Amino acid sequence: MNHFEYTDGELYAEEVALSRIAREVGTPFYCYSTATLKRHYTVFADALKAAGLDATICFACKANPNIAVIRTLANLGAGADVVSEGELRQALAAGVPAYRIVFSGVGKTRHELEFAVAKGIFQINVESEPELRLLSEVASARGVRMPISIRVNPDVDAGTHAKITTGKKENKFGIEWTRAREVYALANSLPGIEVVGVACHIGSQLTELDPFRDAFLRVRDLVAMLRADGIAISRLDMGGGLGVPYDSEIPPSPAAYAEVMASTLGDLGCRIVVEPGRLLVGNAGILVSRVVYVKEGATRTFLIVDAAMNDLMRPALYDAYHAIVPVHQARPGEGLVEVDVVGPVCESGDTFAKQRKLPPMRSGDLLAFGTAGAYGAAMSSTYNTRPLVPEVLVKDDAYAVVRARPSYEDMLALESLPDWL
Ligand SMILES: *Cc1c(COP(=O)(O)O)cnc(C)c1O
Repeated sequence: MNHFEYTDGELYAEEVALSRIAREVGTPFYCYSTATLKRHYTVFADALKAAGLDATICFACKANPNIAVIRTLANLGAGADVVSEGELRQALAAGVPAYRIVFSGVGKTRHELEFAVAKGIFQINVESEPELRLLSEVASARGVRMPISIRVNPDVDAGTHAKITTGKKENKFGIEWTRAREVYALANSLPGIEVVGVACHIGSQLTELDPFRDAFLRVRDLVAMLRADGIAISRLDMGGGLGVPYDSEIPPSPAAYAEVMASTLGDLGCRIVVEPGRLLVGNAGILVSRVVYVKEGATRTFLIVDAAMNDLMRPALYDAYHAIVPVHQARPGEGLVEVDVVGPVCESGDTFAKQRKLPPMRSGDLLAFGTAGAYGAAMSSTYNTRPLVPEVLVKDDAYAVVRARPSYEDMLALESLPDWL
């Protein structure tokens, strides 16, 4: 369910015509819908509540770290899950209180740990013994004990794309499930560490519940063991990962997911933390692009558009599917034609879709890529010295540019010539 719909043959974001934004902001641009963000958050929060879970929802900012997006969710009560000092700064700038921020990630530097400890965030999810020792040192130097969960790797197959599966023992994430007990014992002995919980995140874009159930049951067993060892566990951070429909897949509903969580972890007396990213923002965003040329190749027709793999990387990186729709619907009687939708970057990987059926399009026509609100703008780069795409947030009949397109002067300003040249 989202708020990108046609009115009189033209695609709107809520009550704003996308053609108007295209005219005023230029293409390509990302467009997010406030009503859709709210809807996704509310459905998810209500599902957890209905399942009887005392849960804190920490939006995984890496899916879309725009501060206006984070604030929209924070105003509804969301905290933040961050994976770098940059994201931590964005969450704070968006107004997320430090006591609702979780810091995850395998490679936090000393400086990042110092910054997080100084800000007094809710917890740090620790992923290795060296990190545990470094954090203890950093926290002790400030005279505090930092609340932590240890991220455990439950060795379950999330059944998702290899590049976004994180809970198998060969993945770099977390502490192997079988070694968790000894690492907890170490954590418990360190002066700067206050052990509060267990963390687990098995991957992204999951479309089945079984991997979640398997992981939650392992966590449940671990909590029993740790408590038997005299370690107090009061929080369980079960990560994100619930999938969204890009094409015809039907991921589990938030209600079904919450039910699995409640039935496996609900009676442990723990505060539950969840870190959804894609689920909250995926279908709340689109990427709008203009057709530059229609090129008739030897065997197929190419729509060459002004967005490219640097703006929306998922098709090139994961062979991901994104719906592509015309901003102006086909005129009556117009059939569909098969086209390859490609960007201008000098790589064959810069292909958004092959043999996709679209109404006949001409140079200058607008099209929109669906489900682009998660891992879209967040993963964009300036490859081919293309300026980062602006981001626009719509609310009812209003829109605002919430990240501007940099000028070429801005882009070149960070470069310099050494004096020997
Ligand atoms: C990426 C990530 C998330 C969010 O994943 P989604 O699939 O977007 O919900 C949550 N927690 C951690 C630790 C992550 O790395």
